Amino acid sequence: MNAPALSSVDLHCHSTASDGLRTPAELVAYAAERRLTVIGLCDHDSTNGVAEAVDTGARLGVEVIPGVELSSEIEGLQAHILGYFIDPASESLQGEFAWMNATRQARIQLICANLNAAGIPIDTADVLALSDGGTVGRPHVARVLVANGYAESVSDAFTRYLTRGKPGYAHSEKITPEGAIAAIERAGGVAVLAHPWSTKNPRAAVERLAPVGLTGVECYYGEYEPPVQRDLVSLAHAFGLLTTGGSDYHGEGVKTVDLGGVLVPPETVDRLRTAANAVRAQSGMAQV
Ligand code: AMP
Ligand code: FE
Ligand code: FE
Ligand code: ZN
Repeated sequence: MNAPALSSVDLHCHSTASDGLRTPAELVAYAAERRLTVIGLCDHDSTNGVAEAVDTGARLGVEVIPGVELSSEIEGLQAHILGYFIDPASESLQGEFAWMNATRQARIQLICANLNAAGIPIDTADVLALSDGGTVGRPHVARVLVANGYAESVSDAFTRYLTRGKPGYAHSEKITPEGAIAAIERAGGVAVLAHPWSTKNPRAAVERLAPVGLTGVECYYGEYEPPVQRDLVSLAHAFGLLTTGGSDYHGEGVKTVDLGGVLVPPETVDRLRTAANAVRAQSGMAQV
């Protein structure tokens, strides 16, 4: 008799629809190879990879949760908001993506101009070509810097040139976390605070966002040691929020954790789905 199928759930990964290295189909094929049963595809400010990923998943036996990661900020620090079980075609989300991506294009021009002024002659066209119509961001600049010998790796390029205070940094207008949560809810999904320590003050972020619809906290994350993860679980519980986690996989060599390197139990998916269905019931949307 066959053993019951084990569930392996990774709720946070990226494809070429944003700054991942694998196409949505390649990502799902890799998930199948890694014996994952559920992945959350959470590209930055885009759902363009979702349909291809869901289709591939249906063929390969991987459930793909339609997701997104919205690039919001609190006081200039990344406060990324993950959305799960969203309708990828949502007009509300697509409206946000349109201005966010226009702003991103302008920011890339500025970053390249700043680098050029600092004596690093990289070409905006090369950066845009690398993003290939997906959400363009600093990781694409980093890859062009590496390809042209100005940095040894993507993370080296960030450290030398692309983080705040460095010559290639440029700020741009971002969606507020409240705006991100509202857009996710209008798309029938639930919002989770990604890698909470990027805000440098997870408690303040959760205190601010729990009253406006935040549903969960990404407690399990590759860069967080177990005690940090436990503190985040306590924080989530104190506010009655769900605990989630994921690898934030972008491709080989981008982060330390491989796809499936951070797993959550299947109950997490059930809880997110139940919460999304409650949001959906309120606005008469189909259940997921
Ligand atoms: P952007 O959206 O253009 O501001 O770029 C943010 C993305 O860059 C994040 O989603 C990460 O994928 C990546 N990133 C941010 N900081 C670093 C870093 N220090 N090293 C490598 N990748 C980074
Ligand atoms: Fe990224
Ligand atoms: Fe993020
Ligand atoms: Zn991410």
